[in-house]
Amino acid sequence: MRGIKYLLIISVLLILLAFVLTNFAFKRDSDEQENASETVTVSLPETEIEIENGEEEEDLDADNKWAMFLVNKQNPLPKDYDSIIETELVYEGDKNGYIDKRAAKYAKDMFAAALEDGIDLWVVSSYRTIEYQQQNFDRSVQQRMDNGMTYDDAYADTLREVAMPGESEHNAGLAMDIMSVEYTSMDDAGFEDTKAFEWLDKHAAEYGFILRYPKDKESITEIIYEPWHYRFVGIYYANEIKESGLCLEEYFAERGWTDEDGKAVKMRGPFDEEEKKPDETAVTEPTVSTEPKKTMPAVDRNEQKLTIIV
Ligand SMILES: [Zn+2]
Repeated sequence: MRGIKYLLIISVLLILLAFVLTNFAFKRDSDEQENASETVTVSLPETEIEIENGEEEEDLDADNKWAMFLVNKQNPLPKDYDSIIETELVYEGDKNGYIDKRAAKYAKDMFAAALEDGIDLWVVSSYRTIEYQQQNFDRSVQQRMDNGMTYDDAYADTLREVAMPGESEHNAGLAMDIMSVEYTSMDDAGFEDTKAFEWLDKHAAEYGFILRYPKDKESITEIIYEPWHYRFVGIYYANEIKESGLCLEEYFAERGWTDEDGKAVKMRGPFDEEEKKPDETAVTEPTVSTEPKKTMPAVDRNEQKLTIIV
């Protein structure tokens, strides 16, 4: 009897041992599974980074990257941009048209190509100084007040059609209002029914220009549909944007170049250049430091900085 009792106890202990062992084994498996799934989650972000890098590499081929920046309410130009920009004549007419000299060749090529196709493009408006934009804005407010609007209403209404000084692409020398003999009114979108518009719609991107304020994007651009307003962004980005069907603000957001308020955090154009200025001064420091130590106080650096800005 005693022998059977011991046998029973031993078998119970064995069963318990077996249970514990299987449990441990199971736990280990599931741990391994967890590890395996962790490996998958870890590899996911890596794939995303690879895609991003791929896009960056693609962008290395982009021409005229300097021209790819936002100018709008959230991203006004530096106040002194009038004195920084260098422009070039691209159109001779009743009013001569100037744009940023780095984009001039593209505009001239576009006009020549259009002419070959029998389309005589007219530049109605191009580069405007920030100072002129201010006069333009004030005049527009005044006209509305003359027609009976209150100052607040006139101001708000003007904002829908005229950008604030420094917030217009015309101030950046990157925009042209282009029309033709067929239609020259900016009071409505009638220009879109012309052969000139059809040509621009088809070919502008080949020369680095995009239709900047499309019909269905008014709520995003906060500017009315302007079938005449073309903006230079370089050929690469013009084609990308055209194919994407996005407006410039949307494209920037899609690429993660703007924050949630629409302020550019990357591809900031003249702002990036502004930020580089202190670095440029830093680069020149070693040359200064080869001079005897007494000739390199902070004052010298300030003078250098001034030279760069002027
Ligand atoms: Zn315009």
